[in-house]
Amino acid sequence: MFSVKSNFEIREESIKEFVRVLIPEILDKEIEFNLESIDKDILINTKIDNKKINFKYKNYENYIEDQVVVMAKVSLLLLMDKKYPWGGLIGVRPTKKFYTMYEVIKDVELVKKLLKELYLLSDEKIELLETIFYKEQNLLDRDDMDKINIYIGIPYCPTKCRYCSFASYEIDSTIGKSYNEFVEYLLKEIDICSEILSKKKIESIYIGGGTPTTLSEEDLEKVLIKINEKLDFTYLKEFTVEAGRIDTLSIKKLEIMKKYKVDRISINPQTFKEETLVKLNRYYNKDEFDKYYEIAKKLGFIINMDFILGLPGETTQDILNTLENIKRYNIENLTIHTLALKRASNLYQENYKHIELDKIKIENKINEILKEKNLKPYYMYRQKNTYDWGENIGYALEGTECLFNMRTISEDQDTFGFGGGAITKKIEKLKDGTYKVDRIVNPKDPNAYIKEFSERVNKKITFFNN
Ligand code: SF4
Repeated sequence: MFSVKSNFEIREESIKEFVRVLIPEILDKEIEFNLESIDKDILINTKIDNKKINFKYKNYENYIEDQVVVMAKVSLLLLMDKKYPWGGLIGVRPTKKFYTMYEVIKDVELVKKLLKELYLLSDEKIELLETIFYKEQNLLDRDDMDKINIYIGIPYCPTKCRYCSFASYEIDSTIGKSYNEFVEYLLKEIDICSEILSKKKIESIYIGGGTPTTLSEEDLEKVLIKINEKLDFTYLKEFTVEAGRIDTLSIKKLEIMKKYKVDRISINPQTFKEETLVKLNRYYNKDEFDKYYEIAKKLGFIINMDFILGLPGETTQDILNTLENIKRYNIENLTIHTLALKRASNLYQENYKHIELDKIKIENKINEILKEKNLKPYYMYRQKNTYDWGENIGYALEGTECLFNMRTISEDQDTFGFGGGAITKKIEKLKDGTYKVDRIVNPKDPNAYIKEFSERVNKKITFFNN
């Protein structure tokens, strides 16, 4: 049975989570940590069965919170001879880790050294984090706490993709039937809450979901009119709508978005292999896709395309074909995800196992595209249960980076969330330069969103008035 013995304070649950994610084969073992010294150097002796290891590292406790615990966890990787590109980091926001370490240490080289030697990150991952760190330093004003970002969640899609774990319901489904009422309540929520937002400068608006363009043309226009009427665009730098699936698009919807000042959209093939998309319960047609891409281009939108590596049944060659096809599109943003199987997805419940992929070939191809299109990484995050513990990376042409995406990951500015599954975040900058984040989450389910409407709205108003 799993147990942890130690001569210092350590939470068994936190070790168990680390082991569950990175070394599941020792989930039935007794682990013993012995802290032997904590002066100039910290020395930990770790034992499982007959295996033992000593891990010694300079004491940076002024810089690294809970260094002893970090070393205890990492010593397990060393003991079990486990090597991962992300070493012992299992959080979903490694760029935030880099930034918060920098805020305390104020020395990029030391941050990199600690990530390499203490957390065991690979040079490649450290380089990625450093690139994004400098992007953030250039693009994000970290002291401007008067600004706010707006997220609006539309929890509907025409069909549910089999890998999906997002807030997304089919309009005709039992839960999705309240669509008309949902739109009504969303408009009401914007009406009521716009007053408290008048005290803030809105930096970005992002309509996500689901797929927001699942809204009918009439409802999409109603929502955009409401946003234009009620929210102050004086300081607005970007307005994004996820138009992810072509089966939700029409020329009129693109024109409506343009008319109401949306300047960025996401159209997401995920793969160019039609057979995969059909299996995933996701409509795709190349000619229609190209038609909407051309129109969106003519209307002058900044276009992002999302792709997923590791989709069911896809081989390395399928992925290489998809990547090759990206060359045909003149996009400003490209987001490459690694398939994440969350417990809520159909695929997870069916115990789907992925096909082994040739990572080197795929990485080389991605680098070729990035070079050709002059796209640079600007934000990234990781997800639990992701194939090979990969990451999701957003690339952009210089000057077209999506600030909302960056703020969502760096969590250094308030966000006000409207609609299904939207997260409202209130951020406080602490004396050491790091941030405290308080959250209120709107229910994903539209029926619960409607039912708890008044309670949630009042809570958010109080939250922002204090
Ligand atoms: S389009 Fe996105 S949100 Fe909608 S079902 Fe597919 S994965 Fe889920």
